[in-house]
Amino acid sequence: MAILLEGRHIAEKVKEDIRLKVLSLKIRPSLASLMVGDNSGAVSYVKSQAKAAEELGVEYQIHKLSSSSSQEDIIGFVRKLNNDKSVNGIIIQNPLPEKIDYKAVSFSMDPEKDIEGVHPANIAGIITGRAKFIPCTAYAVMELISASGINLYGKEAVIVGHSSIVGKPLVFLLLDKLATVTICHIGTSQAGKLEDHIRRAEVLVVAVGKANLIKGEWIKEGAVVIDVGINRVNGKIVGDVEFSAAEKKAAFITPVPGGVGPLTVAMLMRNLVEAARLQQG
Ligand code: NAD
Repeated sequence: MAILLEGRHIAEKVKEDIRLKVLSLKIRPSLASLMVGDNSGAVSYVKSQAKAAEELGVEYQIHKLSSSSSQEDIIGFVRKLNNDKSVNGIIIQNPLPEKIDYKAVSFSMDPEKDIEGVHPANIAGIITGRAKFIPCTAYAVMELISASGINLYGKEAVIVGHSSIVGKPLVFLLLDKLATVTICHIGTSQAGKLEDHIRRAEVLVVAVGKANLIKGEWIKEGAVVIDVGINRVNGKIVGDVEFSAAEKKAAFITPVPGGVGPLTVAMLMRNLVEAARLQQG
């Protein structure tokens, strides 16, 4: 039976370390969270970010713009936050209203304050192995893999899902550790090849958003399985991996909920404190 990689517990250790770093800074780190319009999809993230900020003694400012704001208005506001010396980190909460281009808005952030690691300058840092800020979910996945104790050198690492915030950055983070990396997506499934890739994965990361997409019997004996997916099924939150069958084959597996999610918020705070450290000079 697999050992559970409980993000909740690992997050507590990460937060302990962050608390000490906050105490060693000359300034109190401050995070500006920008919401546009109703943004009900972001409410639970904002709550957990605000709670973590309070626990860690960092400031969390919520800025709300009306849904009628134009893209130029939003970018103008982001520029104000860029120039505000009392702000060390910025988060643009998704989803933005449909007419707004998230990339255009997030690319207007000062990369030194982009604690989610979505600005092209920070993405380039990941590719070149000199990242200042790693996208928080990918960062949490690497922390969980590290908690399993596996040495990634030469391992078959398979990622399912190629989003900019999870799958794509993970390719480079895993390559940096000299794993052999394969990335699967909808095209892989439609070509009928997903199962073959999963069967040889020694490290498997799944970030799709489809409950039970990955069958437990496909999991390689002794694999490390990180399930990023969040799906609501009959009022319960589940991941993308068929957990009860997968835990019989894997050596390590993340639960959903309680795996990647809580650690993602902790990694965001780690990035904020690093931003504050760099900005204080
Ligand atoms: P996304 O929604 O942008 O993209 C989905 C990916 O899944 C794409 O690469 C797509 O090609 C692939 N895909 C879709 N159907 C597939 C199939 N049948 N077979 C193989 N691949 C398929 O991805 P995202 O924003 O990274 O989100 C993915 C999941 O991770 C969602 O459930 C999301 O809620 C969750 N998530 C969790 C956290 C966290 O902190 N726990 C953070 C981010 C995302």
